[in-house]
Amino acid sequence: MSERIVVVGAGMAAGRLAQELPGVTLLGDEWHPPYNRILLSAVLEGTHSPEALALATPDRADLRLGARVVEIHCEEREVELADRSRVPYDRLVLATGSIPTLPPIRGLVRMDGRLHEKVHAFRTLDDCRRLSAAVPHARNAVVVGGGLLGLQVARALSVRGLATEVVEGGEHLLRSQVGPRAGAILARDLERLGTTIYTGARAVRLDDRGLRLDNGYTLETDLVVLTAGGRPSTALARRAGLDVRRGIVVDHHLRTSDAHIHAIGDCAQRGAQVTGFVPPAWEQAGLLARHLGGEDIAYDGARTVARLRATDLDVAVLGDPERAEGQVVEVSNPIAGSHRKLVVRDGVIVAATLVGDLSRIGLITQHYDRATVLGPHEPGDLLMGDRPAAAGTVSLPDDAEVCACAGVTAGRIRACSSLEDVRSSTRATTGCGGCADAVRSLLAARSLEGTPS
Ligand SMILES: Cc1cc2nc3c(=O)[nH]c(=O)nc-3n(C[C@H](O)[C@H](O)[C@H](O)COP(=O)(O)OP(=O)(O)OC[C@H]3O[C@@H](n4cnc5c(N)ncnc54)[C@H](O)[C@@H]3O)c2cc1C
Repeated sequence: MSERIVVVGAGMAAGRLAQELPGVTLLGDEWHPPYNRILLSAVLEGTHSPEALALATPDRADLRLGARVVEIHCEEREVELADRSRVPYDRLVLATGSIPTLPPIRGLVRMDGRLHEKVHAFRTLDDCRRLSAAVPHARNAVVVGGGLLGLQVARALSVRGLATEVVEGGEHLLRSQVGPRAGAILARDLERLGTTIYTGARAVRLDDRGLRLDNGYTLETDLVVLTAGGRPSTALARRAGLDVRRGIVVDHHLRTSDAHIHAIGDCAQRGAQVTGFVPPAWEQAGLLARHLGGEDIAYDGARTVARLRATDLDVAVLGDPERAEGQVVEVSNPIAGSHRKLVVRDGVIVAATLVGDLSRIGLITQHYDRATVLGPHEPGDLLMGDRPAAAGTVSLPDDAEVCACAGVTAGRIRACSSLEDVRSSTRATTGCGGCADAVRSLLAARSLEGTPS
């Protein structure tokens, strides 16, 4: 009899695992099959329908929705659901994601433990629908947190016509991923839409007069959206006695301290690293599928590549550009809204930030991955020239990565016959969608090559 593989969570990592291992059981507490969380702000903005977010789930997967796991019984190898029923497993995979952090603002939570009626979280499709339904009845909104989620939500609300204000405790936007110059370009971009940004300010109290900040301002508002970050969802693992630090600790087989239990995605921690982005979550899901299929794997932690996505806003971060040691080569063009930065050590790119203009992302990622030793002029040359997004893509070598979310190379794209073929056989373009232009150019160049002259 084949092994019973049960997954707790039916989010982006679980969905990817099910695509690779079609016979698994997914227990998800949301009422929706796996969907693309990255595009929630596009639903809020109105450019995508909720249906367009669905991720393909094989018919053979046993998908149980509204199924919240409340306990893991390690000895019996069973999980217990909220309705007290039990599901047995041979291998359990924890893919419980992360939970939003509640900032310390007085008045946010009511006496009955529920959020104040003006306050919204933004993690799930249901959160998105609730917020979207409230927009037509509101004139203004405050977004608490100027990170990735905050930028996406503020953009969507501004486009929907609300006077939107962002409150960020740090000195600039997206401060966990980018430096002050890139932060300023992102701010200018939002301000063009009419958004007001308060940096270096914290919201401290919500009352009848509005949201009070620690700098003395009170922002009158109809809606407050919480986007102040998240932390790995570990309560279940902790109660089961698994080794948990910030995330659920896993080894090079993505296995927890219990040999029958694995963890992937936002909830997992390998070494000192917890991730929080789709590319590593999908990389881990792909590797674990191979491992559960009988292959040996050695996962040493994610190559940190993050593509952040909102309409007209493209950001890519390789490694940790704000903390990596090395010489910094930087080009900022606030007029065009682009910023590019490389951190180079001994001729090798050890980190990079690209905001606005991602035309060189393929080449830069390739040098970063291969640790290519560059000549003295090459880092500068790599950053020059605002080009259309897909320029330079056509000449990429076959092993250069084009889709960071699904880890797909130019060669694999060239081997496909159409965009549909690319989507179904490689899953490129189905994550953040940031590679779509590059994929189209590669396909176009391929069909031109195939056209007899
Ligand atoms: C609005 C938004 C925008 C984002 N934008 C980007 C972006 O541009 N780029 C990027 O790389 N990343 C982005 N992210 C982060 C990205 O979505 C996550 O890294 C990714 O979803 C991680 O996948 P996961 O499966 O680990 O977690 P999730 O996709 O969060 O799935 C976890 C699932 O497990 C369920 N669950 C938890 N506990 C239980 C339980 N006890 N029983 C049953 N089910 C349970 C949760 O409800 C959830 O459905 C964004 C996230 C959000 C919320």
